[in-house]
Amino acid sequence: MITVDAALDRLFSLTSPLGTETVDLAQANGRVLAEGVVALRDQPPFSASAMDGYGVDTTAVEIGAVFKMIGESAAGHGFDGTVGKGEAIRIFTGAPVPQGVSHVVIQEDIDRDGDQITISDRLGAGPNIRPLGADFTKGQTFAAPRRLTPADIALLAAMNIPQVVVFKRPDVALISTGDELVMPGEVPGPDQIIASNTFGLKAMLEGMGAIARILPIARDNIASLETAFDLAKGADLVVTIGGASVGDHDLVGDVAASLGMERAFYKIAMRPGKPLMAGKMNDAVMIGLPGNPVSAMVCGHVFLAPVINAMLGLGNHRTPIQTATLADELPKNGMREHYMRAVVMQGQIGVFDQQDSALLSVLSNANALLIRPINDEARKEGDTVSYLPI
Ligand code: AMP
Ligand code: MG
Repeated sequence: MITVDAALDRLFSLTSPLGTETVDLAQANGRVLAEGVVALRDQPPFSASAMDGYGVDTTAVEIGAVFKMIGESAAGHGFDGTVGKGEAIRIFTGAPVPQGVSHVVIQEDIDRDGDQITISDRLGAGPNIRPLGADFTKGQTFAAPRRLTPADIALLAAMNIPQVVVFKRPDVALISTGDELVMPGEVPGPDQIIASNTFGLKAMLEGMGAIARILPIARDNIASLETAFDLAKGADLVVTIGGASVGDHDLVGDVAASLGMERAFYKIAMRPGKPLMAGKMNDAVMIGLPGNPVSAMVCGHVFLAPVINAMLGLGNHRTPIQTATLADELPKNGMREHYMRAVVMQGQIGVFDQQDSALLSVLSNANALLIRPINDEARKEGDTVSYLPI
């Protein structure tokens, strides 16, 4: 048995960033930027009004000051001339600020009478002008790698970047194994259950930016497993579920080995998830997850997420952990790192009484995995503990 950290190190040594591709900005949300971007323009490209109001010279701004209106500057239609002493223009949000204007008096602070305006006694703070390049300037860099958010997409659009170079999405093949499994929607026989893990993992992987393919269920025999591995060809990551233990029907390890899988490790000092194997199979990384539904999902958070991030060029990191205050006491932990289903609320974390790794309803109600280190001493209420948000 090896530790979670050692297993992750070995997984990282099997993994490298995938190639890149160019995509339209409109398709780039959630993708990982592979090449830094340089702003093609200043924003704003001119000094611009931040308010709807009246543009004047700032030195003339005082309550009771009177100005003569000489024109208008609207967004997309600037004012061409110069605004002189005692003069004002009507100006709108986003409009270019012309020569001679250094203050926009908000319209709520103005009394208007035909071509004449007077600053009323509700004087707001100024100058309500966004200087040229206040947001970003031409040549400014936007660094990679970085997972693009909606705000990033808006920023890149404003920089006039129509396309970006991103890491390819990892192609993941998901193989459920077991004679007892049928697909959701099918009618199970009396001894059968529904294959749930591949669906949970597909959802998780796609949320991370991978493309996950659910392959037909492999049965607990060599030929069926060989067919499944054959269908997985071309994937960057092949994930099997179940059949990784030491039971008579646990054939995944043997079949994978016969197809050339070089095993990097098998069995991890963690709970749930002990029977986990990994290695390199042709060009793909192969990870064999345990079949118990909660084990498979926990291993997804702990191992698949960092591997996907590494393939996406985001570096080799454990899934970030956070800390919270323990709501109840916990007994001493044993020889395996324990990922306990838990709920975090307002900085307090409490674990569920039921920690059986078959209970998906408990996992579904959890929003955290409380991490008990190997041989962690007994913990009392109020202790600070680590958890993984899920
Ligand atoms: P195994 O590792 O194959 O012995 O499976 C352990 C447990 O997980 C058994 O109860 C299986 O029925 C169950 N199991 C295996 N694969 C899946 C799956 N894809 N979806 C739901 N349960 C599964
Ligand atoms: Mg099985």
